Amino acid sequence: THIPVITIDGPSGAGKGTISRLLAEKLGWHLLDSGAIYRVLALAALHHDFTPEDEESLVALAAHLDVKFEAEEERSLTHIILEGEDVTMTIRTEQVGNMASKIAALPRVREALLRRQRGFKELPGLVADGRDMGTVVFTDADAKIFLTASAEERARRRFGQLKEKGFDANIDQLVNEIKERDDRDTNRSVAPLKPAEDALYLDSTDTSIEDVLEQVLTFAHSKL
Ligand code: C5P
Repeated sequence: THIPVITIDGPSGAGKGTISRLLAEKLGWHLLDSGAIYRVLALAALHHDFTPEDEESLVALAAHLDVKFEAEEERSLTHIILEGEDVTMTIRTEQVGNMASKIAALPRVREALLRRQRGFKELPGLVADGRDMGTVVFTDADAKIFLTASAEERARRRFGQLKEKGFDANIDQLVNEIKERDDRDTNRSVAPLKPAEDALYLDSTDTSIEDVLEQVLTFAHSKL
């Protein structure tokens, strides 16, 4: 049987997370937050005092990573459990995000996470959120979307999210960090951030979440 997949790729803060979650809820499909896997790996690496140069150790860590995603029905929140510890909040800091993007540039680390990510493809379908979902992990996806927004707008959104979660944040610093992370994700040699050739390109800078979701749904339905 064919298991349908919708991929949503793009830079951080473009609204992928929200759109992917709403889309998965609406369709009743599974959700893969691939960035969370890289973040969990980054957190585990920080716990072990590994640096991005410790490639061998990072590859081993990636292969044996003990991470579980536990859905909490009513609040549509997925708890992320690393070695029995709830890291749902701790993986969202900029420090972890930056470490994630550094180790995500290592080809063998990405390779070690491939099968784990593909394992999320189960009936009735999957919405996969990340950087290379349409270009590498699910190249045969039914519908591919590339969602982006200006760095300034993404920094403003990130600022709001961080404040909401009780973290301290500085908007100028966020713009710089976002640009730095974009650079690293876009210019790495393996699985760089770029739209798949057959992706629908959406810019959400001046578009509400509701309107983006509408466009994504229309496109997805035309492909399924
Ligand atoms: O999306 P999120 O900000 O949680 O991802 C954290 C980092 O993980 C990204 O900056 C990127 O370097 C890496 N990542 C990746 N491939 C994915 C998802 C995330 O390289 N599919």
